[in-house]
Amino acid sequence: MEKIKRLTVAELLSRHEDLVGKKVDVKGWVRTRRGNKNVQFVALNDGSTIKNLQIVFDLSRFSEDQLRPVTTGSSIHVQGELVASQGKGQSVEVLADELEVYGTASPEQYPLQKKGHSLEFLREIAHLRPRTNTFGAVLRIRHALAYAIHKFFNDKGFYYFHTPLITASDCEGAGAQFQVTTLNPEDLPRRKEDGKVDYSEDFFGKMASLTVSGQLEGELGATALGCIYTFGPTFRAENSNTPRHLSEFWMIEPEMAFYEIEDNMDLAEEFIKYCIRYALEHCADDIAFLEEHFDKDLTERLRFVVENDFVRLPYTEGIRILEESGRKFEFPVYWGVDLASEHERYLVEEHFKKPVILTDYPKEIKAFYMKLNDDGKTVRAMDVLFPKIGEIIGGSQREESYEKLSERIEANGITGMDWYLDTRRFGTVPHSGFGLGFERLVLFVTGMQNIRDVIPFPRYPKNCEF
Ligand code: ATP
Ligand code: MN
Repeated sequence: MEKIKRLTVAELLSRHEDLVGKKVDVKGWVRTRRGNKNVQFVALNDGSTIKNLQIVFDLSRFSEDQLRPVTTGSSIHVQGELVASQGKGQSVEVLADELEVYGTASPEQYPLQKKGHSLEFLREIAHLRPRTNTFGAVLRIRHALAYAIHKFFNDKGFYYFHTPLITASDCEGAGAQFQVTTLNPEDLPRRKEDGKVDYSEDFFGKMASLTVSGQLEGELGATALGCIYTFGPTFRAENSNTPRHLSEFWMIEPEMAFYEIEDNMDLAEEFIKYCIRYALEHCADDIAFLEEHFDKDLTERLRFVVENDFVRLPYTEGIRILEESGRKFEFPVYWGVDLASEHERYLVEEHFKKPVILTDYPKEIKAFYMKLNDDGKTVRAMDVLFPKIGEIIGGSQREESYEKLSERIEANGITGMDWYLDTRRFGTVPHSGFGLGFERLVLFVTGMQNIRDVIPFPRYPKNCEF
């Protein structure tokens, strides 16, 4: 073939007015092929956009034999003239001059033949589902959101701070941990005299796990660099088979010195609105596709969140609203209860019809590091609750008093926290932070129903395929 610069479908479509009448070079996978005795039409997709490029094969130039391997799923390279399209549904098409087939895809074996496979079926072939329109759209949006997150924090002067994934502290309490060991399970139990496993022989010389949160190390970063954020994988071994939990998920955890709870809420609201606005501006085609096929209110819901102030409400008020709602909940409501998703969604979807930031939770249901309020009963926690999702962000002002924090650490029976307490021992400052579950954000922006469908290779109980 002639040496001309290959263009992605996205590049070609964005510049099509300049390119009409010129010879173009494109590569991609065949989505469909149809036609008649005179002409065959191929819809070509290369992942750069939800849009397919139509390739026209004139059968006076190409033989049946040449076109036989051009079936759904096969990969091809085409050169030809870009022309204004005569058909409906596309503005331009390529009149093929030359064809190279990279790889065939047997129609008897390639599983993505017809459109409209169920999401459940696609989960079983998660290794191939990125080739579908739906997952292409979701994964492009996921990328755009990840980029927006880095851009937001970078532009604000936050530093991307890398916290460890393997940790020996088991006190975060955010969830059950996966153990990291090179001990051979065949040799276990290898007990000490007191009946405990002897980890001195293990790789790290003590029990180690995968992190459930980078927050504690993030606080070390914030009390040195001012404002930091983490963005990395976290692991929770909780047996939660819900559409909102994964065993491996990505979390963004900003941590800011000199931020009080109000500053923290302002940042969380600005941040999440920025990300959603970024997706609306940069992923319009993909959002439109998902709206058409899965969720007809998607754009409206996204705009609504961007354009309205979040409600800010103390937990105690939230409990009162739930108690007075007259609603029968599956889990009973009373002051002191950890809210279930049904309670959160009642407040957001039915009572306020807006995102809600719930603050000042009872200290018993929140982590030890949260700053105690003057009432001695509640802590400066803040959870951001979203329609259809429930909790999307959890955060707090942190306890900066060495005395109060070490008291709470002791009361919780936690040990080995001296390194963490050094932040309070030396030059302690008021500071705050929060954690956003990345997949919950992607879930919200794509309008998908199940968190397993917004990450390429989901991990959940009894599933570790691919
Ligand atoms: P939940 O009550 O929904 O289980 P949590 O209170 O345990 O969440 P946090 O420890 O506050 O969660 O974690 C911060 C954020 O991480 C949550 O607000 C949520 O967005 C996300 N998150 C927590 N657990 C998971 C999970 N298993 N899978 C995906 N995202 C999660
Ligand atoms: Mn939480």
